Amino acid sequence: MTKVYLKKKISRRIENGHPWIFGNEVNTVDGDAAGGETVEVYTHDKKFVGKGYINPQSQILVRLLTRDKSEVIDEEFFLRRLQEAWDYRQRLGYVENCRLIFGEADFMPALIIDKFNDHFVLQTLALGMDKWKPAIVKALEKIFSPKGIYERNDVPVRELEGMPQQKGFLSAPFDTQIIIRENGLQMHVDLENGQKTGYFLDQQDNRRAIQHIVKGADVLGAFCYTGSFETHAGWYGAKSVLGLDISENAVAQARRNAALNGLENICRYEAVNAFDVLKQWSKEGRQYDVVMLDPPAFTKSRETIQKAITGYKEINLRGMKLVKKGGFLVTSSCTNLVQPELFLETIQMAAKDARRRLRQVTFQAQASDHPIIEGWENTNYLKFLIVQVL
Ligand code: SAH
Repeated sequence: MTKVYLKKKISRRIENGHPWIFGNEVNTVDGDAAGGETVEVYTHDKKFVGKGYINPQSQILVRLLTRDKSEVIDEEFFLRRLQEAWDYRQRLGYVENCRLIFGEADFMPALIIDKFNDHFVLQTLALGMDKWKPAIVKALEKIFSPKGIYERNDVPVRELEGMPQQKGFLSAPFDTQIIIRENGLQMHVDLENGQKTGYFLDQQDNRRAIQHIVKGADVLGAFCYTGSFETHAGWYGAKSVLGLDISENAVAQARRNAALNGLENICRYEAVNAFDVLKQWSKEGRQYDVVMLDPPAFTKSRETIQKAITGYKEINLRGMKLVKKGGFLVTSSCTNLVQPELFLETIQMAAKDARRRLRQVTFQAQASDHPIIEGWENTNYLKFLIVQVL
C-alpha cells in the first residue's frame, strides 16, 4: 500500500487529530496510489498516523478514515461505521429524522447522509468517498431497508476534487416530494430540488426553543426558506406569523406547510429581499413581539469574514429595531468561519448601534445529531441565539 510521510513540523490541526492532510504538509509519497485509493500515513519518523483515501488532484491530499492500522477499509467497514452512527443517534433520542452521518465528526470525511424517516439523501464530496458510494448504499439498504435513496451531489465543492456535480436516484425511483414529522407537526420536503439535502435538520432541536416566547405573539421570520421556524411558531400558539424569503419556490412551499398544519390563517409569507424590507420596516417603525433571523452563510472563505460580520451586524441591527421593548430576537449563523465568540460580539455591536440592551435566553449550536469535536472548527458551525431585547 502507498505510504505518505508527513513533514517533520506538523500543524496543530493534525495534532488535534483532524482527518485532513493538505498536500503542503506532506514530505514524500512512497507508491503510486491513484486518486481515491486507500493509503497509509506516517510521521516523518515513521510512526503510523492513520489510513485514508488520497486525491492528488485535491489540495486536501489525504482524508483519514481510521487510526487503527489493522482496520481494513472495505464494504464491512462502511456497514460498521453507519451502524455505529445510527446507534449513536438512537441513544440521543432521534427516531425518524436525523443527520445520520455528519462527515468528519462521524470519522467519515466528506460524507453527509440525512435520514428523513424511510428516505435517505446522501452527498459524497470527495473522490475517495465517492468511490465507496455503492458500499454506502448497500449498508443503508441492509440497516434500514429504505423506501428510497437520493444523491444530492449538485454541489460545487465536488469540482475541487475533479468530480462533476450530479443528482439522482441511488435506489429505484420514488416520489421525491415527501412529508416528514418534526416536533409534532408536518413538513413538506422536496428531496430533489430543495436547498442542500432538501431540509435543514441542523435546526430541528433549536426550533423547539421558541415554544414559549411565541405564544400569543406577532412574529416576523426572515430567511424562512420553507417556513420551518414559522410553522413551529404558529403551532406553538403565535397570534400571527409573517415569513420572508427571497426564493419564490421556498415561499410557495412554506405556504403549503402552513396549510398542511391547518395554520394558513396564522402563517403568511412574502417573497422579498429581507435586507431591503427589514431596513424599510424598521424606518417605518413596525414592531413585533418576536423577530427570527436565519440568514445564509454570508461567506465561504476566510478572506471575506469581514463581509460576513458586516452582513450579520446589519441584519441583526435591523431585526432588533423591529422588536418591541421586552420582546425577543431569535438569531442564527450557519458558517463555521464565524465562531461562537465572534458571533456574540457581532450581536453586541449591533445592540450598541441600535441602542438596545440584550438579555440572553439561550445560546445553542446545531442539533446534537451533528456532533462537535473540540478543535475541529468545521464541525462547530451553527450558532443559535435567543435574546430578550430591552
Ligand atoms: N430557517 C430555514 C433555513 C434558512 S436558509 C430553516 O430552518 O429551514 C437561508 C434562506 O435565506 C434561504 O431559503 C434563502 O433563499 C434565503 N435568502 C438568501 N438571501 C436572502 C435575502 N436577501 N432575502 C431573503 N431571503 C434570502
